Amino acid sequence: VVQVRGVDKSFGENRVLADVDLEVHEGEVVVVIGPSGSGKTTLLRTLNHLESVDAGRVEINGRLMGYKLDDDGKPRGLPDAEVSRQRREVGMVFQRFNLFPHKTALENVLLAPNALRLPDAIDREGALDLLARVGLREHAEKYPHQLSGGQQQRVAIARAIAMNPKVLLFDEPTSALDPELVGEVLGTIADLADEGRTMVVVTHEMRLARDVADWVVFMEDGRIVAQGPPDEVLGANATPRVARFLQQVD
Ligand code: ATP
Repeated sequence: VVQVRGVDKSFGENRVLADVDLEVHEGEVVVVIGPSGSGKTTLLRTLNHLESVDAGRVEINGRLMGYKLDDDGKPRGLPDAEVSRQRREVGMVFQRFNLFPHKTALENVLLAPNALRLPDAIDREGALDLLARVGLREHAEKYPHQLSGGQQQRVAIARAIAMNPKVLLFDEPTSALDPELVGEVLGTIADLADEGRTMVVVTHEMRLARDVADWVVFMEDGRIVAQGPPDEVLGANATPRVARFLQQVD
């Protein structure tokens, strides 16, 4: 579903992504970990073209994200409308939930697909079903300020699913939450994994890497320095660098 090849990205002199390759297959959950500033969020943002890339390519379902190739093979930026269309295939859940404050939970879920006039826009029943799936059926008529952080984040997750994306991206989905609310959001993400959703999750939460990931990616200084199944990357045979990181965060 996701293919990243040789991606480079710099902000000024700061090379934030250096020759990154990544593949995410259908139904797979990839969890990206690593020290602060290693480029995790930037990598995630290149997947839906919130960041452009300086070199390399990002493909979603076999289509180059944000660009098309000229006859002579040079990449050319796509018009905004086309990029927006591509982005609908890539749902994103942010650290801060970004809900519309004056809309109820139900309206927040309904609004996204309908505002975009998606062909498979959901109706009220569909939105209520999605809220039920994240355990919030009985909170459908509440406004964001009447919900806890964990509940707001689950509304944001329901809203992202409402777009019926091919892949769901999570950017540190629990790091703005009080510790006692983290578990419910992790539980929702684990449920989505059980449903077979394709997901890429950037997180500092090792429980996600250990218990939910099919594939763990460890980044440092803009490079992927270790990747594999969680028990290989994080287990007894972890590289010294990863082991040191785990000691710091666990
Ligand atoms: P954290 O775990 O702290 O969120 P991260 O691994 O997600 O870190 P990024 O947020 O991708 O790291 O940042 C990587 C580097 O890129 C950092 O040095 C950061 O300061 C820099 N950076 C990120 N976004 C921008 C931007 N829009 N402009 C300039 N520099 C940026």
